[in-house]
Amino acid sequence: MILHQLINSKSIITKHGDFKVDTYYNGKEEAIVLSIGDLREKNDVLCRIQSTCLNHYFFDVECDCLDQMESSLEMITKEGQGLIILLHQEGKGNGFSTQFNNNVKDSRNYKLAAKIINERYRINSINLITLNKHKIDNLQQNGIEINRTIWYMGKYIKFKPALERTISEIIKEEAICPIQYEFEDNNSGSKKRVLICGDLNIDRFLVDPPKDYVGGTGYNAARALHKYGFMPIIFGSVGNDDNGKLIEDEIKNLNLYAIIRENNDLVDEESKTTKKTAVVKIHKTGDPSHPFNHEWDTVNNANDYDNQFFKKTITLSNLNKNDFVFITSYLFLQKKWDIVECKKFFSEIKKRNARIILDFAKSSFRKCEATKRMPFNLDQFLECINGCELFLLVDYFNSMVRLTNNTFDNKIPESDDYELFFNKYGAKYIICRYGARGDTYQDTYCNL
Ligand SMILES: [Zn+2]
Repeated sequence: MILHQLINSKSIITKHGDFKVDTYYNGKEEAIVLSIGDLREKNDVLCRIQSTCLNHYFFDVECDCLDQMESSLEMITKEGQGLIILLHQEGKGNGFSTQFNNNVKDSRNYKLAAKIINERYRINSINLITLNKHKIDNLQQNGIEINRTIWYMGKYIKFKPALERTISEIIKEEAICPIQYEFEDNNSGSKKRVLICGDLNIDRFLVDPPKDYVGGTGYNAARALHKYGFMPIIFGSVGNDDNGKLIEDEIKNLNLYAIIRENNDLVDEESKTTKKTAVVKIHKTGDPSHPFNHEWDTVNNANDYDNQFFKKTITLSNLNKNDFVFITSYLFLQKKWDIVECKKFFSEIKKRNARIILDFAKSSFRKCEATKRMPFNLDQFLECINGCELFLLVDYFNSMVRLTNNTFDNKIPESDDYELFFNKYGAKYIICRYGARGDTYQDTYCNL
């Protein structure tokens, strides 16, 4: 049998760059290879192996082959070297008859691709663009050294229908988690991952001159926790409007993992969209230990505490007992202080044994009072977090004082209050205080 004979060599100008195109034939199967650069003896070469899939011809919303191809072309062009191997195997290697059957066994074979990588291009190791476990295993069995896997979406994961398929593949253990642990420079170990459940709203700060900030709790907490060695995964929804785009750009600039969905529903003043912008008036207090008071209008936006989406996010991020979940008290507000709804949310975390970092924002309780919702009930709250390992994050607007002394002034809690909280409510650590845009960090009781 002829092994991967080169039968054709051309070049192609794509939207993303010029690629060399080689066609190989082994007497039975054909493969097309798009490549950039001299790849001989190279390490960690970017590689995408794509099997034929016809679903995009029919605009199947769950097919992301074209997105993956586009992203691969883009990444390889940017890197200046890499290859894409197209294999002729429809229906997961079972042929046309199973093309539209999601539950068919994955019979794809990557032997030819492995031979091309090893023998034709003599590549030492690859960085493979995939989440597909079968592909990874099969390539390794055929002698390919995979340095790491990369997902085509990168760190900013925009939620779309095609992700539903990825999620079901993760559940069936056919796909690996797209959010990989990052390692410190010294490779001493993985960072602590923290799923951020907080507002991603834009605050229009009424300072002089007025400024628009993506200033929501989620955004700020992600920045603050990242500073303390955490690897945040920001989660939430943004509106399909200019504010939504501003939020997206700000989050992309952070270069942190994010799972973001677009939400066009404008429900009420606590809408999940960004069609309205929160206005925060800042008053100087003259007290250096607590320089500002913040006054909110009734609008808050870009929150996302939808249980279904949260569940999907947990699956995508493969949340486990080594991970943390940051939760702002706005969750309770959004859930209308409905104990059943709140419990559902926390039960997802409990199933994974993740630890909780809690942000008790005083403003959310104020808002609770202002909107005449059910008043804060500590016993109910404790019922929700019962069984979770609780960490605590305190910010400027915290209601620690209220919790401990049943007062509602702006006093910054004393260390005694912290001790009380540790003892009474089982919090292990207080991490830090943080300010607008995460810039004004102040350690108070950092115990990590
Ligand atoms: Zn497809």
